[in-house]
Amino acid sequence: MTKVIGFHYTLKDDDGEVLDSSRGHDPMLYLAGSGTILPALDAAISSLAVGDIKSIALPAKDAYGEINPAFKMNVKLGQFPPGTDVKPGLQFKINDEPASPMFRVVNVLGEEVFIDGNHPLAGVNLNFDVEITESRDATPDEIAHGHAHGVGGHHH
Ligand SMILES: [Zn+2]
Repeated sequence: MTKVIGFHYTLKDDDGEVLDSSRGHDPMLYLAGSGTILPALDAAISSLAVGDIKSIALPAKDAYGEINPAFKMNVKLGQFPPGTDVKPGLQFKINDEPASPMFRVVNVLGEEVFIDGNHPLAGVNLNFDVEITESRDATPDEIAHGHAHGVGGHHH
């Protein structure tokens, strides 16, 4: 039977810096095996019971992957559409292919623009502290939709 699992998490890098946390918000609720969360995290969580607290370490290769040097490149300022406010943090796609990565501007030096198409968490080992808050059988609706429905039913 497919499960719906709720959990609180705090995500830290190897330096102990908190990158993200569900604390202070509703727990994350997801349909097991749906690809909503990282598959390696799903695999580690789906065997836990309500009330379980666990630390789960995912090496970068099991999370957002290693850094791909080919996705770090220089382009010219003139390659951006006229009027674009090219500055660090700007995100854009190079083309319309669905699989094409989202690039972001890292730095601008004169006419040189340094861009990076790696996921911001590529190359980062992820350390999750999780607490399971809910574990139940998925409803037929949830299985049909491929996602979990929160308290009070449908929200989309
Ligand atoms: Zn739905």
